[in-house]
Amino acid sequence: KLGNATAKAELGRATWKYFHTVMARFPEKPTEDQQEALRSYIFLFARLYPCGECAEHFQQHLNKYPPQVSSRKAAAGWACFIHNEVNAMLEKPEFDCTDLGAFYDCGCAEDESEEKE
Ligand code: FAD
Repeated sequence: KLGNATAKAELGRATWKYFHTVMARFPEKPTEDQQEALRSYIFLFARLYPCGECAEHFQQHLNKYPPQVSSRKAAAGWACFIHNEVNAMLEKPEFDCTDLGAFYDCGCAEDESEEKE
C-alpha cells in the first residue's frame, strides 16, 4: 500500500509541475483557437489522468470550476486555484498563487522573447 501511495504522489508531483508549466507558457493574448486548444486539453487531461480515483475527483472539480483560458494570467491563476482545491481535499496547505510565472520557469526564455518581438 505504501508503494502505491508513493507512486501516486510521484505521479502527482510530476504532473502538477508539467500542468503549471503549460499554463505559465500559454500566450498572454491567446487566439480563439489557442483558447479552445487549452480548454480541450484540460478536459482530456482530466479524463485520461492515469490515477482513476484522481481523474474522477478532478473531473468533478472541473465541472464546478470550468477552465479559464482567456489569457496566461487567467489560466495560471485558475490552475493554481484548482490545485488548491485538490490540496484542500487532501488536507494539504494552500499554495500562494502570486508570482507563479517565476516559480514555473520552463527554461525556454528565448522562445518567449521571439513571441514578444
Ligand atoms: P503536490 O500537490 O504534488 O504539489 C507539488 C508542488 O507544487 C508543491 O510542492 C508546491 O511547490 C507546488 N504547489 C502546491 N500547490 C500548488 C498550487 N495550488 N499551484 C501551483 N503550485 C502548487 N492524490 C490523491 O491522493 N487523491 C486524489 O484524488 C488526487 N487527485 C489528483 C488529481 C490531479 C489532476 C493530480 C495532478 C494529482 C492528484 N493527486 C491526488 C496527487 C496529489 O495532488 C499530489 O500530487 C500528491 O499527493 C503529492 O503531493 P505533494 O505534497 O508532494 O505536492
